[in-house]
Amino acid sequence: MAGTAADAATWSNWAGNQHSVATAVLRPSSIAEVAEQVRSAAETGERIRPVGSGHSFTPVAVGGGRRMDLTRLAIDVRVDVDRRLVTVPAGMILRGLNALLADHHLALPNLGDIDAQTVAGAISTGTHGTGAAYGGLATFVEALTLVTGTGEVLHCSAEEQPEVFDAARIALGALGVLVEVTLRCVDAFVLRAHERPASLDAVLAELPGLVEAHDHVEFFWFPYTRRVQLKVNDRVAADDRPLPRWRSWLDDDFLANTVFAGACRLGRAVPALAPGISALSVRALSERVYTGRSDVVFCTPRRVRFLEMEYALPREALPDALDALRRIVDGLPFKVLFPVEVRFTAADPIWLSHSYGRESAYVALHQYVGMPYEPYFRAFEKVATELGGRPHWGKLHWRDAASLAPAYPRWHDFQRIRTRLDPHHTLATPHLTTLLG
Ligand SMILES: Cc1cc2nc3c(=O)[nH]c(=O)nc-3n(C[C@H](O)[C@H](O)[C@H](O)COP(=O)(O)OP(=O)(O)OC[C@H]3O[C@@H](n4cnc5c(N)ncnc54)[C@H](O)[C@@H]3O)c2cc1C
Repeated sequence: MAGTAADAATWSNWAGNQHSVATAVLRPSSIAEVAEQVRSAAETGERIRPVGSGHSFTPVAVGGGRRMDLTRLAIDVRVDVDRRLVTVPAGMILRGLNALLADHHLALPNLGDIDAQTVAGAISTGTHGTGAAYGGLATFVEALTLVTGTGEVLHCSAEEQPEVFDAARIALGALGVLVEVTLRCVDAFVLRAHERPASLDAVLAELPGLVEAHDHVEFFWFPYTRRVQLKVNDRVAADDRPLPRWRSWLDDDFLANTVFAGACRLGRAVPALAPGISALSVRALSERVYTGRSDVVFCTPRRVRFLEMEYALPREALPDALDALRRIVDGLPFKVLFPVEVRFTAADPIWLSHSYGRESAYVALHQYVGMPYEPYFRAFEKVATELGGRPHWGKLHWRDAASLAPAYPRWHDFQRIRTRLDPHHTLATPHLTTLLG
């Protein structure tokens, strides 16, 4: 049903740093209705911005025209257990998708840190987890249905409209409104997580082997120290003994959210304490091993609000990037309260993927809400850009089309498809104009 101006609500993202007011809020319940609403916007010169669950830090979901919320889109979920394919409405939340797949003894091959995003929102910005043999979530997409900027309903896959498929899997909502997504799954699996404190130098020294030897490797570097918490997840037999629930809650939720929130508040109030808090956090880290259903091990609740920038680098550039980052942190006129997260992904063929054509190491900088962050992020952005880095589309950065184009070999092909699918700029926003031209 088309919304009216009276429905228009202010919108803000999870981190609280992006806001918009729409001229109308559209909540279509069928693909035909999406098509009709896009067509009518194109005819009247209005803009449409589809939104997911607002977990991007950039204004990528911010638009001044009509906001389209796809949570009411009624499309049947189809699960083909034999072929391990699932087709879902694009606005489905990952948490619900994971539960649905588990009911069918299936799972997504890899996930990021949280499961609160929509399927469309997650794939549109290149959301990823970690694992040298795995691409981001968009690489699991087998087929897509989108409503283009002219209101045409287009189905694409590797066989059907292959160029649109390569462009539309990570498209920042610039090519059309995704309405239905088919994902390739795997049989449900159990992960054994092994977390242990280590020295940064030791981890960097053993990195190439470590990343190849284990399914999912990541580490968190604690600023003002040379220590990291290494997290390695490996696939194990389904009968591996799971960690008791209370222990899991104590470690993951209480320490990661409640205690950490207290430490961040203290560090924000008395910044001089930040290096001490970081050193204390490192000493409090312990080794632990636990097992659980894949999505439960991959994803954890994040209740401490922060701002984030993340850069995908050619994997071999990681040591130089971390070296420079250490110097940046030490030279800042304010303190950094959050650890830096490092993850790894395989190369993929999606045109606007951060990992297009190369194996990546991702370096993610966080800062607690209410703390200064821009000089920190900008200083690292300069280093990352020089190293050939590509910014995560959903996380803060200051790049524009002129600086991004050389980083993406298929940039001009993407632009060609964009002109074809959205000739009237119905899906354009000021942010997308900065990014894509
Ligand atoms: C606490 C937290 C943890 C995070 N962890 C990770 C992580 O581990 N790995 C990682 O890579 N990222 C991570 N992110 C970033 C997040 O995954 C991305 O920003 C993602 O895009 C958010 O999805 P969303 O559903 O909230 O979409 P939104 O942020 O609402 O929208 C994202 C983009 O998708 C577009 N879009 C939404 N729906 C549609 C549609 N139906 N059709 C076309 N376009 C659409 C929007 O227009 C916008 O351009 C994290 C973010 C937070 C806040």
